Amino acid sequence: MKRPAELRDVSFLYSPQQTKIAMLNIVLFGPPGSGKGTQAAKLVEKYNLVHLSTGDIFRANIKGETELGKLAKSYMDKGQLVPDEVTVDILKSEASKYADAKGFIFDGFPRTTFQAEELDKYMSSRNTSITLMLSLEVNEEELKTRLLLRGKDSGRPDDQNPEVIQKRIDVYNKETAPAKEFYTKQNKYSAVNGVGAIDDIFGSLCTEIDKVN
Ligand code: ADP
Repeated sequence: MKRPAELRDVSFLYSPQQTKIAMLNIVLFGPPGSGKGTQAAKLVEKYNLVHLSTGDIFRANIKGETELGKLAKSYMDKGQLVPDEVTVDILKSEASKYADAKGFIFDGFPRTTFQAEELDKYMSSRNTSITLMLSLEVNEEELKTRLLLRGKDSGRPDDQNPEVIQKRIDVYNKETAPAKEFYTKQNKYSAVNGVGAIDDIFGSLCTEIDKVN
């Protein structure tokens, strides 16, 4: 005789009681130049979250001339992704510095489905989970214009070379965009228009967050 589904999994009978920790954990997603950093800074302030940007971590390491910095630079200068294992390790060790965080904004991470899976495992190990993935939608022409403009005063070498910019957009489409699926399946994916006034875009992001928070 077939038992009802709820009786088949009896693991709850012997698992220790785990109360999920209430955190607001947001993945800010979108192609290079879509405004993730700008919006992350505003969201961090409004919701009192910890901002973790893998790009910023790598750039700090390049500046400090660490081994990680050297390795990261060799990929970043070509518009390629830094290998998953290195990126996941550094992200986890940074996040672990904030044991009492009310929540995180992950900016530029995850950038592959593998990274998304690893982030889920890490959040589970902290007894919490990702609340929402927010994606900023910006067309390719606008991205290229913005990145070249940013390169003029940021000094970021990857923003100054049109071929590297194109490569990053291609890598985004091929390797990063599929990670949306991971969150769509969990009903956690939400996209907003990333073209327009910064405050209007911020308003759209907050509306999405307030629906689930
Ligand atoms: P942008 O979104 O404008 O590309 P970032 O600062 O997020 O800027 O990333 C800069 C570069 O750092 C990327 O092109 C990539 O080489 C590297 N990088 C950042 N985050 C990741 C990640 N999660 N996985 C692999 N590489 C990354």
